[in-house]
Amino acid sequence: MKRFFSLKMRASRTVDGEPQHISGAEKILQEEDTPRFTTALLDRAFHHAKGQPDFINLKLELLDETRILRLPALPVKTIPTDSPAEGLTKMTEILRSQMGIANAERIVALLPQCGNMRGAAIVDVDSLKRVEPDHRRGIRVTYMDDEASAEIGPSSAKNHFREAIVLGTKVANAPHLLGELCISDDPDYVTGYIASREIGYCRITCLKEKGSPVGGRIFLFRGNADDLQETIAFLETQPVLVSNVPGSPAQSDRWQRLQEDLSQMEENGLRRKLLVQETSAGPQACVAGKTLLMLASNNYLGLAGDTRLVEAAKIAAEKWGTGSTGSRLLTGTQREHVALEQELAHFKGTEDTILFNSGYVANLTVISTLCGRDDVIFSDELNHASIIDGCRLARSRIVVYRHNDMDDLERKLREVRPVRGLVVSDAVFSMDGDIVPLPRLLELSRQYGLFSMIDEAHATGVIGPGGHGTVAHFGLTEGPDITLGTLSKALGGEGGFVCGRRLLCDYLRNRARGFIFTTAMSPVTAAVARAALRVLQQSPELPQRLASNVKVFVDTLRERGIVTSTQSAIVPIPVGDERRAVKMAARLQQRGIFLSAIRYPTVALGQARLRASIIATHSPEELRHAAQVIAEELQPVIIQNPGSW
Ligand code: PMP
Repeated sequence: MKRFFSLKMRASRTVDGEPQHISGAEKILQEEDTPRFTTALLDRAFHHAKGQPDFINLKLELLDETRILRLPALPVKTIPTDSPAEGLTKMTEILRSQMGIANAERIVALLPQCGNMRGAAIVDVDSLKRVEPDHRRGIRVTYMDDEASAEIGPSSAKNHFREAIVLGTKVANAPHLLGELCISDDPDYVTGYIASREIGYCRITCLKEKGSPVGGRIFLFRGNADDLQETIAFLETQPVLVSNVPGSPAQSDRWQRLQEDLSQMEENGLRRKLLVQETSAGPQACVAGKTLLMLASNNYLGLAGDTRLVEAAKIAAEKWGTGSTGSRLLTGTQREHVALEQELAHFKGTEDTILFNSGYVANLTVISTLCGRDDVIFSDELNHASIIDGCRLARSRIVVYRHNDMDDLERKLREVRPVRGLVVSDAVFSMDGDIVPLPRLLELSRQYGLFSMIDEAHATGVIGPGGHGTVAHFGLTEGPDITLGTLSKALGGEGGFVCGRRLLCDYLRNRARGFIFTTAMSPVTAAVARAALRVLQQSPELPQRLASNVKVFVDTLRERGIVTSTQSAIVPIPVGDERRAVKMAARLQQRGIFLSAIRYPTVALGQARLRASIIATHSPEELRHAAQVIAEELQPVIIQNPGSW
């Protein structure tokens, strides 16, 4: 049988013959935890900001385990208020409307008169009289603790919030008490609370002026003299352990937690904002009424605003309507979907293709469908977030290898000796623009009997002859087992797809939850993608024009001293610091250039960059001008961060 002890510490000193309180604390602990907490409380007594004690009272008392009452912590809610008047009005309203106390205003007015924070006043809510026996001392609530105290461990600092929740929970559960009101007497602490079993622990953020020493604590009582004895006995002697006590207001208040997270992001230069585009996609953009050169889109071939695709959308909408009406396996397969799957398979040189609603969903779904707990996934350290999320969803063991380092991959394969699994990589890396060494990756995957997979989001329409992608780029006769692509970048629409063997696609149609349990893409979207494929196949010069544009841009940057390189349409321009990258992007926008500041978590912390993506329909003059402006703005930054890449 466990033995529980109450441990209490009070520290005081004598000033002008009068004892002056310095610090106090109490715990309810199992026997084995008492030594370390005794030391911690002594430490707290000796090192208190209020001064050195000359008297420390430590009391250790065995409790009857069967008498300990276990209570769940009151739920915490924060009510933001801007002024004491607003705070007190809120408190009064809650008392009246949520707790049904008619004398609400007069009770709140009593608070400043009940100002001994170590002892509370007990106020009869009907007669408004203080009914505790000793008004000078008030009622001191003791024998209570956080059930997780031992787990959290002793700390020489107080967690006021946790202690307040423990107290509030015990008081709210006392017989004949309707609740509690509290304003701290600490001049710097303007937050107070109102608590009861029904309303929980409601923090009101402003209840008094900063600097004011006025505070008070009232327990709201209703009952007769015997009831009062019962209440006081509970408060003073009933041992209570409170479970699930939150460590901070942010931890306990779901909305406040979000607010604080956003504020933190703002401070670290990581808060995102939506930029509203005011014209259709093209080499120029209009944002906030200003025309800018677009260097931030994935519209590599300029097809997103192409009239041929717009026309295809109109025709498809007239023919099919706007929605697919159901999931692919039920009513959501129109002719457009099937035709697009066949045409994509043909374009990629595979047996079959299966469509998904986005590239993100495709990655998530395919990886988690093909791999499970028994698999090992070998993943490039710079793989796209959707691959990472897919690996997580699969719950496989994940082995991350160094970026594009096939020797590292081989070393790890040799070490792990996986029985089943997958090697997965971006084909063109979305933040660096470099290409996976596909031949070696395929060789290693085959050697170890693993699935091979590449994500061609930024490769399709961009690299390889005719924009056919990575397999064509390397001139291979056989590609990876799984080739994933998106319709959302060079193809100017939206949606994702997976190409490979018929067996793979059949399997996914039967097993892939992200295919089965979602409404199919609109037939209009499918028709637009088909039109994009037609344009690409009829205009093999488009990817060539894109490549020559990239060369103009990179060459001009290099001439101006900016060190960068790419093998695709993505040109990373290193900056380093997150806030600096955001400032640079804003400055460039003022100078008519729309570039994205790419920051953590998209790239590692401290590796923020400007990411330029080139469009085939940019003119070489536009790109030369942009590169010059970027170089002018960035020169000082690059010089200050010479070693960051
Ligand atoms: N893979 C990569 C490499 C990507 O860059 C992206 C998009 N940023 C995706 C997948 C997701 O594709 P989608 O935008 O079609 O969801």
